Amino acid sequence: MKFYISADIEGITGVTSWESTNLGNLEHAAAARQMTAETLAACRGAIEMGADEIIVKDAHDSGRNLDLTVFPKEVKIISDWYGSPESMVAGLDQTFDGVIFVGYHCAAGFCGSPLAHTMNRGNNYVKINGEIASEFLMHAYFAESLGVPSLFVSGDQMLCEHAQKYNPNLQTVAVKKGVGNATINLSPSYSCKLIQEGVKKAIAQKDLCHLSLPSGFDVEINFKKHSRAYRASFYPGVTLLDDGYTVRYHADTIQELMTTRMFIL
Ligand SMILES: [Zn+2]
Repeated sequence: MKFYISADIEGITGVTSWESTNLGNLEHAAAARQMTAETLAACRGAIEMGADEIIVKDAHDSGRNLDLTVFPKEVKIISDWYGSPESMVAGLDQTFDGVIFVGYHCAAGFCGSPLAHTMNRGNNYVKINGEIASEFLMHAYFAESLGVPSLFVSGDQMLCEHAQKYNPNLQTVAVKKGVGNATINLSPSYSCKLIQEGVKKAIAQKDLCHLSLPSGFDVEINFKKHSRAYRASFYPGVTLLDDGYTVRYHADTIQELMTTRMFIL
């Protein structure tokens, strides 16, 4: 079996400040160490269930957060970015048996993490078909379009609840809860234990993990700066709303949604 793991940092145990998410910042080392530990725990769970090939995408910011030295031979790690629309699941194709999301965080527009955002910090929300959409949802839809189920998510509690709305069979591990500008965290080693067990459970029932893919996508993005919305409105098919801060576009497929997003968000 072959699995894809997409790892972000804002939903990792203990990660609370933007500073700790920036490569080169003093606080980043501890965050990256725990991101590595939680990603490794997911790999171990998958390998125990029979995975013989795992692709890990280091999917935060620089894409150079994970310590590659700890991973076993079954794992290949994608560092840095392809620059392709599939973004945080770059390289995913129909040959995979499932996607596992580690360290994901709630979307811009949700209050469940001090680090809530969608793709970057320049927007107040991204909506798909009228509902606030997370990075998890966009990438899970992309995976589903290839017939690949999204099996597992770890991150903050609100993200886990959001993800389960789209598939109640999805296994989740909430490693922390955001309150105001704070986070209440599990013990880092306990998070790893739960992630390893959760991934095993998820793989055991992987055929129940398909999302229903919408037949079309109405996308709305509310930018923090009107200048960003104005600029985005020149991309073919994108319309600026009267408020000057919001743009809309329609995509027939998730691939089209992701391509437009790559250029305007
Ligand atoms: Zn991130």
